[in-house]
Amino acid sequence: MNQEMQIFRETIERFAREKLAPEAEAIDRHHKIPETLMQEAAKMGLFGVPFSEEYGGSGFGWRAYYMMIEELAKVEGSLPSVIGAHTTIASNSINVSGSEEQKKAYLKPLAEGTYLGAFAITEPGAGSDAAGLRTRAEKQGEYWVLNGTKCFITNAPSAGVIVVFAANDLSKGARGGITAFIVEKDTPGLSIGKIEDKFGIRGSETSEVILEDVKVHESQILGEVGQGFKTAMRVMQNGRLSIAAGALGAAKGAFELAVNYAKERKQFGRPIADFQMIQSKIAEMKMEIYAMESMLFRTIDLLEQGKPFNMEASIIKAYASEKADWIINESMQVLGGNGYIKEYPVERMLRDARINRIFEGTSEVQRVVIAREVLR
Ligand SMILES: Cc1cc2nc3c(=O)[nH]c(=O)nc-3n(C[C@H](O)[C@H](O)[C@H](O)COP(=O)(O)OP(=O)(O)OC[C@H]3O[C@@H](n4cnc5c(N)ncnc54)[C@H](O)[C@@H]3O)c2cc1C
Repeated sequence: MNQEMQIFRETIERFAREKLAPEAEAIDRHHKIPETLMQEAAKMGLFGVPFSEEYGGSGFGWRAYYMMIEELAKVEGSLPSVIGAHTTIASNSINVSGSEEQKKAYLKPLAEGTYLGAFAITEPGAGSDAAGLRTRAEKQGEYWVLNGTKCFITNAPSAGVIVVFAANDLSKGARGGITAFIVEKDTPGLSIGKIEDKFGIRGSETSEVILEDVKVHESQILGEVGQGFKTAMRVMQNGRLSIAAGALGAAKGAFELAVNYAKERKQFGRPIADFQMIQSKIAEMKMEIYAMESMLFRTIDLLEQGKPFNMEASIIKAYASEKADWIINESMQVLGGNGYIKEYPVERMLRDARINRIFEGTSEVQRVVIAREVLR
């Protein structure tokens, strides 16, 4: 790690420890990240880490971004989810497929943290089968008219822009039938529907986005007409690595708690860390953390070398999210009764991390991707 990255990591680690961790319990209880914390994160440039300075980013690149997500997720799950959806799938859609004008008009304020971004592909009838979406985009002169309902959209209630995926041709689906649009939040006809009450990451907003005759100019098309699904699949690779980095961070956070607890908690006249069954748990957890870390670093290497990493992103996303779940659960076991009560953060960490096996493609869908690439 070079010196600049080391300083960046220490800065994020300090922010996570001193600013985010003390708010973690309240974020979960009130379903809200304090505005002051969001502003501080924006001032530190945390909403545009991988993007170039020309477009309002910090210019640190993807490795630094994933490192940041890992550090934040060690202490809390909502903020990394908010930043993750905002950066890897919403802003990054504009980064990879946007025109120069679109990058200046939208990527810049997104990366500077002026407002949040959201990415809307999921619909009530199209989850794992995202290409089966039914939101329609109809051309009317220089405009396109969008009609449909999106669900489970992260950041939507607070977002300034939403990248909306809609069908320009229902018969073509993923092969030329889906277009991505940059839709400003105050466009007439766009409204926020039900805001979900969730099991975990309760400080991250998740809602419906309702589109009723939403008229957007053709200059708001992201990339080419019919090529939206390609944009979605491309940015989700970055998204899946972000989820893996978050899972790794949460696993490390819970592991550290368990190790410290095991050294201090005494039963039968000695620290529970003296018992071989506890030692075995600690060793197994450490082995999995090492495996997760190695897989993540190797996949980031591929990304940085400009090599394909679609299958690898699915491997690490499924592996890290499942192992993090297991590690946090084992940490709860090490803490005994204290692991199960809200005075200790492990139960919140378990709830926050559970989503990692579901969003941006479930564990089952990641296995479909892996098997497809292996068997092709
Ligand atoms: C908190 C949260 C935030 C989210 N944020 C966003 C967002 O910002 N933007 C967005 O567009 N979406 C978002 N989503 C949607 C998310 O990506 C989907 O929920 C997810 O992809 C799964 O879709 P589904 O819920 O419709 O489940 P379904 O697709 O109905 O799946 C149900 C079950 O069937 C399994 N299954 C489905 N197909 C197959 C198959 N081919 N083989 C084997 N098993 C299969 C699944 O793995 C799962 O176990 C979010 C969801 C949540 C809960």
